[in-house]
Amino acid sequence: MFSLSFLSQALRAVHLGNMFSLIKLRRVFTVHQVPKAFHEDSIISGYRHPRSSATDCVLSLFQLTNETLNVWTHFLPTWYFLWKLMTVLLMEDALYDAFTWPLLVFLFSCCVYPLASSCAHTFSTMSTCARHICYFFDYGALSLYSLGSAISYSAYVFPDAWVNSTFHAYYIPVAVLNTILSTSLSCYSRFSERQSPRLSKVLRILAFAYPYLFDNIPLFYRLFLCVGEGCTDNEANSIHVHHTLFAFLTGFLFATHLPERLAPGRFDYIGHSHQLFHVCAIIGTHFQMKAIESDMVLRQSQLLVTAPPITFNNTVGSSLVCVCISLGIICLYSLPLLYGSSETHPASAKGKKCKH
Ligand SMILES: [Zn+2]
Repeated sequence: MFSLSFLSQALRAVHLGNMFSLIKLRRVFTVHQVPKAFHEDSIISGYRHPRSSATDCVLSLFQLTNETLNVWTHFLPTWYFLWKLMTVLLMEDALYDAFTWPLLVFLFSCCVYPLASSCAHTFSTMSTCARHICYFFDYGALSLYSLGSAISYSAYVFPDAWVNSTFHAYYIPVAVLNTILSTSLSCYSRFSERQSPRLSKVLRILAFAYPYLFDNIPLFYRLFLCVGEGCTDNEANSIHVHHTLFAFLTGFLFATHLPERLAPGRFDYIGHSHQLFHVCAIIGTHFQMKAIESDMVLRQSQLLVTAPPITFNNTVGSSLVCVCISLGIICLYSLPLLYGSSETHPASAKGKKCKH
């Protein structure tokens, strides 16, 4: 009896030992030891191996590198938004009540973008090629989130004065077009990275800022410009303002690379702009969700009478079209990376194919 329990304890110890050897800390590198495609502005250390295996990438999440918090700051919120989506989905008649569909589309996009981002940050060090393809999916998911916002704004957030206007009629079709443009432009920005990092950054900021600003035209009008009747001045307004503040802070951090630009190397692991950018984006999305839900509840009876009908086409249908076109764009940009020539390869001037 004693020998059996001793044996099982010994086996357990060996098993634990194997587990610990499996997750033993991988070596991290400085900026001078990794290819240029992996360099992050003003981040000096904490880089993972540029040809990590998928297993190494996953295990690196339990070790402090310059990407660890980038992953967790989007992976954990994915579950929060998924919980919110399931809560609405499991509500009685949510699927049969067309008035809820825009909220479902928005919440779905809120789950997809942090999940795509955390996957991109996890697996971006498998190769230069994988890095580009990972971020193509990240950008596609962000474009989908932009469309999810537009669909929910069209249904619940438009000020009374603009409900049923010509702008309202064209709002979702233009948002769909913007999503396609945004995915194309952001993916293209990776191709210009090697020749002109600054132009690449400007293109990427434009690719995300333009659809955001378009989506928010009705909200900005309602919050900051509208006077008199039809302005929809309700309790949701202050929550919309919170979201707007966080959205601008998010853009500011993305564009400026602060604080690490002030002290390169100081914020490599904790506190660099990309982590703060992720956190602000999630807090902003949380306020946006609360504001949309608030408008939805406060205005339901009125909007059901005055607003254009919510259909499958202007909610789920539009999103599906965007998902399909975005996936097509990502394939178009990925194929030259996998089988490309020197002209089309963003990662290597010599045009090496992405074979491992
Ligand atoms: Zn990110």
